[in-house]
Amino acid sequence: MDFSFTGEQIQLRRQVRRFAEAEIAPHVMEWDETQTFPVDVIRHCGQLGYLGAIFPEEYGGAGLGYVEYSIIIEELARVDPSVALIVAAHNSLCTNHIYIAGNEEQKQRYLPRLTTGEWIGCWSLTEPEAGSDAGGTRTQAVRDGGDWVVNGGKTFTTNAHQAQVCVAMAVTDRTAAQHGISAFIIEPGMPGFRLGKKENKLGMRASSTGEVLFSDCRLPDAQLLGKPGEGFVDSLRILDGGRISIAALAVGTAQGAFDAALKYSKQRKQFGRFISEFQAIQFKLADMATGIEAARLMTLRAAWLKDQGQTRVTRESAMAKLFSSEVAVKVCDEALQIFGGYGFIKDYPVEKFYRDVKLLTIGEGTSEIQRMVIARQLLKTRE
Ligand SMILES: Cc1cc2nc3c(=O)[nH]c(=O)nc-3n(C[C@H](O)[C@H](O)[C@H](O)COP(=O)(O)OP(=O)(O)OC[C@H]3O[C@@H](n4cnc5c(N)ncnc54)[C@H](O)[C@@H]3O)c2cc1C
Repeated sequence: MDFSFTGEQIQLRRQVRRFAEAEIAPHVMEWDETQTFPVDVIRHCGQLGYLGAIFPEEYGGAGLGYVEYSIIIEELARVDPSVALIVAAHNSLCTNHIYIAGNEEQKQRYLPRLTTGEWIGCWSLTEPEAGSDAGGTRTQAVRDGGDWVVNGGKTFTTNAHQAQVCVAMAVTDRTAAQHGISAFIIEPGMPGFRLGKKENKLGMRASSTGEVLFSDCRLPDAQLLGKPGEGFVDSLRILDGGRISIAALAVGTAQGAFDAALKYSKQRKQFGRFISEFQAIQFKLADMATGIEAARLMTLRAAWLKDQGQTRVTRESAMAKLFSSEVAVKVCDEALQIFGGYGFIKDYPVEKFYRDVKLLTIGEGTSEIQRMVIARQLLKTRE
């Protein structure tokens, strides 16, 4: 076992931290309050390789592994979880689906544009009536001549309103259940595709979340992604990797809130002493730091296993996502408590972490769904 980071990984963490503190930190609250998607910063992320972190250099990617990708997401989230969410949805959902399931022609067209940030990607699985039960997808694609005609709508798509590429799932064979859902690549100019409502959210407000709608959206067969009927099964593979990024996002969010709380506890005086001298506060800090460390280890282990070429990391990524997101919610809650009344005020950073963090126990499968996934894996492997 070797728990040490390589020199390159340490260097990468420093680089992302410097970038986040210089280019993101000064604008975090302004973007949050105005729900501004930080286009320029996201383009810069593309130039730095963060938008193509896990893809080979031949497609314009940075050729890194999931360990490095987790470092990038963690460091972005430490400063602004919204930016990390934009980068994660782009990388491990949209771009990865094209990388894993796309044919060479599709890879050549889309990957170099996505990995460099020239185009932004989004990934649409969730529907108003099919959330946790994503296999209950209702959006339908019907064969018409050589084309597909898509009707229906998706909800809660991260990056929808900024994306130049959307990967969306639609039923192509109602009789085949989960093997009857296919994936399609859609470019927003294609006829019959339009954007719907952009959500007004509790947190993650600099990332955009919205509806994508299809009415007689005609797609050439070349836009089918992967084998017909295998879009949902491919989605489950995509989510294995995606959940590692959400776990890393949780670690970074928790670390950001913890750092702020630790610093404040050493500055704030009550009863003539720094509040960090009270054992009640010290125990909170100790529990928070321990939880973060455990979450980071689980996240990096899942990432490392993926980098070793393990084809499925379903159990490990679901465990990392479940544990890290729940730890992060607790850490942000305790961080706000350490700030007292000032934690409730927008002049200090913890109220935003407290709002942002809640998404992490919901997106890419709720905590309840992670427990179902883990239990299914346990029951499958123990005779
Ligand atoms: C900000 C944001 C960004 C998102 N980005 C994307 C995106 O980019 N792409 C995308 O496709 N989706 C995205 N989502 C959707 C997200 O993945 C879903 O919200 C999530 O999967 C839950 O679905 P739901 O909201 O319909 O909740 P529901 O499925 O209606 O769940 C409601 C409650 O019931 C529980 N529940 C449901 N089924 C069970 C069960 N069998 N056993 C026990 N409990 C159960 C849930 O855990 C939850 O507590 C995003 C959501 C948000 C809020």
